[in-house]
Amino acid sequence: KGCAEISIRDIDQIANSSFPLCMRHLFEKLREDHHLKHGGRMQLGLFLKGVDLKLDDALAFWKAEFSQKVGAERFEKEYAYSIRHNYGKEGKRTDYTPYSCQKIISSTPGVGDHHGCPYRHFSEENLRTALGKMGVSGRTAEEVMDKVRNRHYQLACTLTFEAIHGSSCDAGINHPNQYFSDSQKILQS
Ligand code: SF4
Repeated sequence: KGCAEISIRDIDQIANSSFPLCMRHLFEKLREDHHLKHGGRMQLGLFLKGVDLKLDDALAFWKAEFSQKVGAERFEKEYAYSIRHNYGKEGKRTDYTPYSCQKIISSTPGVGDHHGCPYRHFSEENLRTALGKMGVSGRTAEEVMDKVRNRHYQLACTLTFEAIHGSSCDAGINHPNQYFSDSQKILQS
């Protein structure tokens, strides 16, 4: 595959290989609960738009999950609008940009929210578990936790990226969509 465009057919595989932990978590929760609260829908939705998931695919993707929870009719009524809105197809037609790490790290997820940056917002135990699921353990996991304790969340994410890809990321991670495109570049080379 030469281009960045992704389709919903291989989104699970791509999420597993190239989504940063913040998006992986939202993606898993959406698959599990068939629902995400507003903050999560915005964070994941704009990220997906940034990885070039087309509007029609995005609508189909969200609908497949949400209709299992709230029904197709309620999805159309209450949620489809805001997805089109994110793509600049409703309201003021602003083309909304995906959130940067800085914005995500400084967000304040409440109870039942799954947005935010796991390096900043997860408990130590949950973060260790999540890292383990990504295949990051032992000394590398300790190095990541060390960055987290020093509040260097983006460096923690960069270390995770490097461990998973077996390749250095000299620029460091500063945007989830940069994480994605750097990952795809490595995996496709
Ligand atoms: Fe996501 Fe950025 Fe946090 Fe990594 S550092 S998990 S890309 S918000």
